[in-house]
Amino acid sequence: MSKPLRYIVVGAGMSGILAAVRLKQQGIDDFTVYEKGESIGGTWRENRYPGLTCDVPAHNYTYSFAPHAGWSAFYAPGPEIRDYFEKVVDDFGVRSHLRLNSNVTACEWDGARWNVEIEDGTKDSADIVIAASGVLHHINMPAIEGIESFAGDMFHSARWNYDVSTAGKRIGVIGNGSTGVQIVTALSQQDCEIVHFQRSPQWIMPVQQFAYSDEDRAQFASDPSRIEALRNGDEYWGGIRRFNEAIIDPDSPAMEEIERLCRENLETSVRDPELREKLRPDYRAACKRLIYSWGYYDAAQRPNVAIEVGRIARIEPEGVRMADGTFYELDVIALATGFRADRFIRPTRVIGRDAIDLDDVWRERPSAHYAVTIPGFPNFFMLNGPTGPVGNFSLIDIAERQWDYIEQLLEPIRSGAKAQVECRSDAFDDYNERRTLAARDTIFGSGCTSWYLDKDGVPLTWPWSYDAFAEAMEKPRLGDFAYA
Ligand code: NAP
Repeated sequence: MSKPLRYIVVGAGMSGILAAVRLKQQGIDDFTVYEKGESIGGTWRENRYPGLTCDVPAHNYTYSFAPHAGWSAFYAPGPEIRDYFEKVVDDFGVRSHLRLNSNVTACEWDGARWNVEIEDGTKDSADIVIAASGVLHHINMPAIEGIESFAGDMFHSARWNYDVSTAGKRIGVIGNGSTGVQIVTALSQQDCEIVHFQRSPQWIMPVQQFAYSDEDRAQFASDPSRIEALRNGDEYWGGIRRFNEAIIDPDSPAMEEIERLCRENLETSVRDPELREKLRPDYRAACKRLIYSWGYYDAAQRPNVAIEVGRIARIEPEGVRMADGTFYELDVIALATGFRADRFIRPTRVIGRDAIDLDDVWRERPSAHYAVTIPGFPNFFMLNGPTGPVGNFSLIDIAERQWDYIEQLLEPIRSGAKAQVECRSDAFDDYNERRTLAARDTIFGSGCTSWYLDKDGVPLTWPWSYDAFAEAMEKPRLGDFAYA
């Protein structure tokens, strides 16, 4: 006999929408998706900066159950991705389950259910909580002396202020992760002067961007097997496997190939030897999240772009002062300085069995057994939680696999045979020990700073192959769980 369960999903970004659709597809109606923002889309709602593009191929950054023939280009621009999620919400009939402007401040397990509090005072409860709150949403404001004294306009990349015109302005972009690189590439083609401040130059993997024609789109629409061929084809998955081999074995031929391509890109694309040396990183390729770009080196060589790799001493009312005394007068500063990647569902207070506080469990570092469950937190599941695969992968594929895994864990509860499931502490500890050990040997631990590292400098990432991740998600190791 199946038992009707109530679900609460925290977050209406890519993972939360996935959870909503998959629940709906199973005929489950008793669920609510709480979203702190005023609209859906998560990272694609927050980020609206010029040049925003997803560097995972569009047809792979798409739900398996909602192929989309209409992508305009091989790599989709951010606004299209936002529209895609809106369409999925409508096409799959989950909009009525969304509660926007509803920041979940607390989730507390009372021994049988999760009691959830929303910032506006609303209370709710459910048998199951799905934490789909995303990773990169707490912005990192850099601790640069004098930052508050800047007299011009300043905003973080995830708070881009389009009320501020960039036309004819002197713009400083601080940070050169995937975001800073996309911003500078886009702005370089506009009527403005840019200084790109790079604390650490980045390796750039050359990729080709191209538009899909109307004919391409018509063919995708009339023959979905063309989309499937792109999604499942060797070109994409071969690339993922090679990239993955490189991450987990920094001495592999795959890693050598990545390094060669990045080095060649620098040598052949940047003509001025002085600029070339400025742009040369002093750590290994893919140590930080590898930047895929089809235009950055061109942008860096345009006359309206200056590259500064020195140390910023302070920000003054009129601009940025470097440690060597150089001063850049600026009208606008865009902070492409990334996110605090160790937060996940926090600052929401999550209190599990026996009043365990998630903040205490995660004091050393955030972790979840196979990135999904945490001992002491029954019926609480994470999508894209800590220690999942990161790199240049589709987080949609990752979340879909995690959802299939969660469903299997839920089977005995849905059938009414059991009421709770929780990961065992010994299984969690064993996973953490093996994961941490393996993670140190990945390319991410090869000697650079990045948001992949925990406070002890250990990569907080999935350290094994993507195939191993897919296999782990295919079937939970039931011995790792306690049902009650
Ligand atoms: P990020 O990769 O964390 O880069 C932050 C940048 O800011 C780095 O260059 C960092 O320098 C610099 N920085 C931070 N604090 C600074 C300070 N006090 N002074 C000077 N520089 C400072 O952040 P992001 O570029 O926003 O990207 C975050 C992640 O978002 C990416 O890795 C990726 O996963 C995702 N993303 C994806 C796409 C996509 O196309 N799929 C696009 C954009 C972002 P250091 O390197 O020296 O620390």
